Amino acid sequence: MNIQSFDLAIIGGGMVGLALANALADSDLSIAVIEGRTPDLSLPVDHEIRVSALSQASKNLLSRLGAWAHIEQSRHQPYQGMQVWDQDSFGKIAFDASQLKTGAVTDGSLGAIVENSIIQAALWQQAEQASNITLFHPFHCQSVAMGDKESWLNLTGSGEENKSVTQAITTKLVVGADGANSWLRSQADIPLTSWDYGHHALVATIETDLPHDAIARQAFLPQGPLAFLPLDNQGNGQNLCSIVWSLPPEQAAELKACDEVEFNRRLTTAIDNRLGYCQVVSPRGVFPLKMRYARSFAKERIALIGDAAHTIHPLAGLGVNLGFLDAASLAQTILDNHQQGKDIGELANLRSFERWRKSEAMQMIAAMESFKQLFAGANPVKKLVRDLGLVAVDKVPPVKEMFIRHAMGLTDDLPELSKPLIES
Ligand SMILES: Cc1cc2nc3c(=O)[nH]c(=O)nc-3n(C[C@H](O)[C@H](O)[C@H](O)COP(=O)(O)OP(=O)(O)OC[C@H]3O[C@@H](n4cnc5c(N)ncnc54)[C@H](O)[C@@H]3O)c2cc1C
Repeated sequence: MNIQSFDLAIIGGGMVGLALANALADSDLSIAVIEGRTPDLSLPVDHEIRVSALSQASKNLLSRLGAWAHIEQSRHQPYQGMQVWDQDSFGKIAFDASQLKTGAVTDGSLGAIVENSIIQAALWQQAEQASNITLFHPFHCQSVAMGDKESWLNLTGSGEENKSVTQAITTKLVVGADGANSWLRSQADIPLTSWDYGHHALVATIETDLPHDAIARQAFLPQGPLAFLPLDNQGNGQNLCSIVWSLPPEQAAELKACDEVEFNRRLTTAIDNRLGYCQVVSPRGVFPLKMRYARSFAKERIALIGDAAHTIHPLAGLGVNLGFLDAASLAQTILDNHQQGKDIGELANLRSFERWRKSEAMQMIAAMESFKQLFAGANPVKKLVRDLGLVAVDKVPPVKEMFIRHAMGLTDDLPELSKPLIES
């Protein structure tokens, strides 16, 4: 069997795993990325239905990693404003990036909507250019064993002419970036706290009569939140948005299966006709929503990042943004340890990363839970409380500014790679 040694092995070459690999590309560390699927790097003609609302902090990271340039050449839609409202009542908040008076310089947008496959392809292309990154694909891990000073991974995959090949890897640190159902997390017996949100997310691409004006919209309906995220129309005159509609599972299944005319009618009503007639122009996808929180983000010779460590409700579009912060924080911790001659896989040296990221993930999980509880249902008292809350945020400038900074991901405790590129 072929055996290779690396300083670091990352299981999962999705958006978050590749961000970590690229964040270490300028170092003298050798990095293996093991990805089960070889991504298609070509730009699809139609928009993918899985998109992410990237915060400014994520854009800062992707710019520093050289991946933003690929995204700009592919397809992305900056969004300047956000509108959030409670259906059938007075609660609403609207803001845009220009209302941010203090702190970081931005490009005038709150963030950008980008298809997940485009983000992954951009990071993949960057990783391919790095001399210290080896991409194993399509490869899967068969086993992992932890020793005192290093770990062993046994992999199987496809080699030339699609022949099955095996590969062994020794490494000081194994990072699980292998998504919500992380193989590494279960192999390492890391317990998981989880609960079902009782909702499924229906996603699709929608053509609307009226232009989106680069505004992200979110309506809170009694059944759950509905987001309209503006998409790049590539100058073809179409007004396109991506929707994420959080619904009880049976309603999501019904809306996925119903005919297009019925779907379009119900969607147009749900968004209060704000973008005129809405027409679905893609297949409809449904994703079950579950909160997951790994009780440890680090163990001896192991670290978890991205969805492998936590998944949260997509209502605030935070999942991959949190994952990118995990990647940037772990890269910073690894580089600090390496520069000080410390063992990068020793648990004691990973503790600061774990404390940093666990506390932020926990705050976000708690915030999403309160949001979800507060906005669920049509109870008139709850409705009054949330409407007053939305109006208060909208009318009190310092509170609003804090809200905008959070929406842009510009919080106080950012890792170096995610900080604004220029300070005002
Ligand atoms: C409907 C919906 C909407 C969302 N919208 C947003 C949004 O607007 N903004 C936002 O920030 N987040 C959003 N999220 C969350 C976001 O999509 C996830 O947080 C993000 O995809 C996680 O990235 P990841 O790289 O950690 O995991 P993944 O994207 O799951 O990547 C994991 C990678 O690991 C590979 N892999 C898995 N197991 C193995 C193995 N054993 N061996 C080798 N490779 C393996 C997979 O092939 C994959 O490439 C949304 C989520 C949902 C469900």
